[in-house]
This record gives sequence, structure tokens and C-alpha cells, in this order.
Amino acid sequence: MIGRVALVTGGSRGIGAAIALRLARDGADVAITYQSAAGLAAQVVEEIEALGRRALAVRADSADPDAVRGAVDAVVAELGGLDVLVNNAGVFPYGPFEEVSLDELDRTLSIHVKAAFVAAQAASPHLREGGRIISIGSNLAERVPFPGIALYAMTKSALLGYTRALARELGPRGITVNVVQPGSTDTDMNPADADDAAHQRSLTALGRYQTPDELAATVAHLAGPGGRTITGASLLVDAGTNA
Ligand code: NDP
Repeated sequence: MIGRVALVTGGSRGIGAAIALRLARDGADVAITYQSAAGLAAQVVEEIEALGRRALAVRADSADPDAVRGAVDAVVAELGGLDVLVNNAGVFPYGPFEEVSLDELDRTLSIHVKAAFVAAQAASPHLREGGRIISIGSNLAERVPFPGIALYAMTKSALLGYTRALARELGPRGITVNVVQPGSTDTDMNPADADDAAHQRSLTALGRYQTPDELAATVAHLAGPGGRTITGASLLVDAGTNA
């Protein structure tokens, strides 16, 4: 992947930070967005630069389409192009669906669905042959083993149709579009020592959480030469939870 530029939304922590660092290790210059964790974002930038790659952190609330477009434009202006877009920023609204407010409904749709759409629109004119769009969905988009996640599952499952349709639109230009569906991954969003972690572990075939680095390895494969003919695909990386 030498000489390529990647943008990872929500790259200040967790899965996004692991993806950003892995793509940098594979030879990409990497930009990240974040919502509020400026200090953590700066640390990720330092780590990428320590790998000898160029890096950029942009504060951009994924709920705001103008901020998403602005982040893509900033990456193109500062890093000289864009080859790999990773739609990763996400939240985990949890609770009975009757209690979801309209504001929360709109905000989650904006972060998980609208931002992925708008980022791809902004990135499209810049993507060249070999370009990649990779979204981070969830295994909960395909199976729902417990209640309280109607909003989360609904917004993540929208990425499935989006991915297949965009693969058809961008395929003629040699650009691939895929969605990676993680299962329980040890991050601030879903710590492996949380109250319900034992239950989540019991749902997996492998009997454990995965690490953000393990998830990042699949994204790196899709972004690299091995991903050339994988498009319109949904890849479960969930330790066998949905098996
Ligand atoms: P974390 O909560 O650990 O990190 C979330 C990241 O997204 C942070 O960088 C955060 O920025 C950023 N972010 C959140 N909201 C916004 C926003 N409105 N605008 C811009 N950036 C934002 O989450 P994970 O790393 O666990 O999750 C990453 C993705 O993986 C999400 O899409 C999630 O749904 C998905 N996923 C996670 C699973 C898990 O078990 N962990 C399982 C399945 C899917 P900041 O630091 O500034 O707050």
C-alpha cells in the first residue's frame, strides 16, 4: 500500500485507532477524524509519524454532514489525495426502543448512515483505480441475540444495502466497497471486563472477545492487494458469534 492516503473516521480510540495504525504500518499516510478526544487523536498522529508516515487529525462530528465533507476536503488538501476511506465512527445507543427520542434517532442515523454516504460522495471524485471504501458495521446488523438494540441494529444494517449498491456504482472505476461486521471487540465502547462481557463471550464460538488489532487486520487485507476483487461483500469478524 506504499504511497497511498487513507482516512479513518473516529480514529482517536478503539477500532479506528487500530485501523489507522495498521494502515500506516502497511505504508499509508493516514488521516483520522474524532469528535472530542483531541489529546488521544494527537497521540495517534504521533504514533503514525513515528512510523515514518504523514498523519493528520481533523475534529469533525460525523453527525454533521458539512463537517464530514470538510474532513474529506482537508485530507485531500493536506495529504495530496485519498485512496482508502474507512467509515468507522460510531456510537452504541442501548435501551428499549420506546424510549429512543427523535433526537437520538436522528443523531444515530446521521453518524452511522448519513456520514458514510456523504463521506463517500465527497471522496468519490478523488478516488482512483484501486480505491477502497470500507465501512465498519456490526454483526448485530445480521443477527440480534438480545433486546435493546433496535436503533443500533437498524442503522448498522443500512450499511449492507449501501455497500452492495455502491459496489455496483464504483466497480467500473476499479474501486471496491465493503462492510466489515465486528463482533465483541475490547474497546471503550464494549470493554471485555464490562458487566455483560461474560454473556457476550458465551455467544462466541471462540469463547473470547477480539482485539481491535485483530479487526484491523481484516481491514488492512481489504485495503491492500488481497482485496482487489472483494467488493460488495459483508465480512463477519466476530469470533463466531453469528455462526
Ligand atoms: P469507541 O467508543 O471505543 O471509539 C469510537 C470512536 O468513534 C472514537 O474515536 C470517537 O471519537 C469516534 N466517534 C464517536 N462518535 C463520533 C462522532 N459523532 N463524530 C466523529 N467521531 C466520533 O468505539 P469502537 O472502537 O468500539 O467502535 C468503532 C466502530 O466499530 C463503531 O462504528 C462501532 O459501532 C463498531 N463496532 C464495535 C464493536 C465493539 O464490540 N467494540 C462491535 C461491532 C461494531 P472521540 O474519541 O473523539 O469520542
